[in-house]
Amino acid sequence: MKSILVNRQALTYAVNQAAEVAGYLWQKGWAERNGGNITLNITEFVDDEIKSLPAISDVKQIGATLPYLKGCYFYCKGTNKRMRDLARWPMEHGSVIRILDDCASYVIIADHPVMPTSELPAHLSVHNRLIEKGSPYKASLHTHPIELIAMTHCKKFLEKDASQQKYHPATSCRYSR
Ligand SMILES: [Zn+2]
Repeated sequence: MKSILVNRQALTYAVNQAAEVAGYLWQKGWAERNGGNITLNITEFVDDEIKSLPAISDVKQIGATLPYLKGCYFYCKGTNKRMRDLARWPMEHGSVIRILDDCASYVIIADHPVMPTSELPAHLSVHNRLIEKGSPYKASLHTHPIELIAMTHCKKFLEKDASQQKYHPATSCRYSR
């Protein structure tokens, strides 16, 4: 199957920007293993041919109804995929999804049935809010920096005392694998 990026320069540029950022996350150690997530609203690049592409996955429930996402399309990092791999091969380690008209479910349409991560509902909720308030922002990104994960395994940082206030609140979120 031909990639959705073929002959779509603007869409390719947008997805490559997500890949570039994934590369920075990896190189700087801001993303451990397969942690973190990138989602990109690509609706502005969607043409009639993309709109007519068939689903290549079952219908998946988002777990929330997000009315501002009606008719939207997103590029999403795949579950268990690593930032360093996405940086080189974004369409092998991520996929494009279409939000269905109920605003509560989606299907994958390209290039491969790479499942988005379990954090997709949170990311889509962010996009829903961005559109609701008229924001121009198109990307949602979060990550699990390795130093923060290390700190959450350090007893000193887990103690509940006033000194904890000087550390970043994320250190109180333990990361489990
Ligand atoms: Zn996460």
